[in-house]
Amino acid sequence: MTATNASHLIRGEHKVDPGSGEARRNVDPASGAPISETPLDAVLAADAAVEAAREAFPAWAATPVGDRVQYLFKYKTLLEKHADELAAIVVREHGKTKGEALGSIRRGIDCVEFACAAPALLMGRTLPQIAVSTSFCRTEDQGGVGIDSSVDRLPLGVCVGITPFNFPVMVPLWMWPMAIACGNTFVLKPSEKDPLAALRATELAHDAGLPPGVLNLVHGGAPVVQRLATHEDVEAVSFVGSTRAGEAIYRMATEAGKRVQCMCGAKNHSIIMPDANREAAIDGITGSAFGNTGQRCLAGSVAVCVGDAADWLVPGVAEKTKKLKVDRGDAPGCSMGPLIDAEAKQRVLQYIEYGLEDGAELVLDGRKAQFPKEGHFVGPTIFDRCRPGMRVVEDEIFGPVLSVMREETLDAAVATVNRSKYGNMAVIFTSSGHSARKFAAHVQAGMLGVNVGVPAPMAAFPFAGWKKSFFGDLHANGEDGARFFTKQRVVVTRWL
Ligand code: NAD
Repeated sequence: MTATNASHLIRGEHKVDPGSGEARRNVDPASGAPISETPLDAVLAADAAVEAAREAFPAWAATPVGDRVQYLFKYKTLLEKHADELAAIVVREHGKTKGEALGSIRRGIDCVEFACAAPALLMGRTLPQIAVSTSFCRTEDQGGVGIDSSVDRLPLGVCVGITPFNFPVMVPLWMWPMAIACGNTFVLKPSEKDPLAALRATELAHDAGLPPGVLNLVHGGAPVVQRLATHEDVEAVSFVGSTRAGEAIYRMATEAGKRVQCMCGAKNHSIIMPDANREAAIDGITGSAFGNTGQRCLAGSVAVCVGDAADWLVPGVAEKTKKLKVDRGDAPGCSMGPLIDAEAKQRVLQYIEYGLEDGAELVLDGRKAQFPKEGHFVGPTIFDRCRPGMRVVEDEIFGPVLSVMREETLDAAVATVNRSKYGNMAVIFTSSGHSARKFAAHVQAGMLGVNVGVPAPMAAFPFAGWKKSFFGDLHANGEDGARFFTKQRVVVTRWL
């Protein structure tokens, strides 16, 4: 089987990179068969994509918002029609299970639907008669002249999106549908690790009739990102990915004067109270830690058990987890797929070693699970009696490793959660409203779940990470998305 060259999509046309530079070779993570090659230093293509977006901007910004969203209505139906096709690409190049792939595409479609509400989201505000002017023609005796004021939301220009491998269809849909609905034009730089799903989803937008240049896609690695994030014709940069890359891109792009939002890495904690519904907590922790093979910024990878909760949670999760079928994503009954690549597998195996070296108790060893031998598989792994400072507790592993900690009280558990440098999400399982309320009041994370394992915000809400999980002001999605992709203009009016 030969690899496909991932082509750029500029002005609605495929452009294969001349291929003089470096490329990344991607394989099927479940079998090692070649899939695609992504050019990594396609800087000229990045320039061409920005130029296409810059040229398309004036006409697109002048297109009435009601007309702009018509393309998104058509696109939504195309995404629904092609959901199985897109899911098959995601399963093949990312390794997710088919159910996970279809679910993530559905969450992406939600974002397209929300962007269709742009006419309401972009509405300005007016305050008539903010003052009475008595200067120039009319005196106070003549009643003066009323002054009105209004504020409008306007597009920024060319916006850029840089996206991670773990949701190759969904995360781009957090960005460009809202950006273009607001009147901007867009350049998407998807992950170099699974480029074909994002490419196919972008082709469908052109099948919906989107004018050339409004949405462009360029592949690449760090050199392309650097070019896009500092390009003089780019106004805003939306990034989703690791904290290491996101923090650097935030610095670089803000220094170049761009508006920037960076949704970054995570180490999410779930508190399990002794009064929790046991079945719900076991289900919730298992799904949160091992869903998407732990490759999720909302993965609950640390369980903080209060009182004697660990005595039933750990055996319960271990028993449930042993039944998970680890296989290629489209195998019948598969509940957990492989990791994205050999490097990711190596990293997870290294953290299992770190856990042992640091003195954690290995309850379930994912190295010994049953899975196909060819791919990048590691089975679900559980460490108990983890303590602060252990590397399996401190670092984002981004794989199927659950670290269990034990605390005596809710206060101690909240303090343990708040030690983390990350603040993406936190969860509590409890039957006490008092405990849930105390948790919500004191825990330092931007997305909270109460008896919900993965509190992923729906499209109308912001993806609201805190601390090292986010750099910027306005988050992705919800009204924040519309505000991020627009600037305000105040008009003060006096008619003599
Ligand atoms: P990554 O940071 O390696 O890559 C993300 C994007 O940044 C890619 O397009 C990549 O090409 C680019 N990139 C990587 N290194 C770069 C560098 N040095 N300079 C410039 N650009 C660079 O992330 P990943 O491995 O693709 O995705 C996993 C990470 O994404 C995890 O940390 C996960 O928590 C995070 N993530 C966060 C969210 C969120 O909303 N907070 C959502 C999904 C994933």
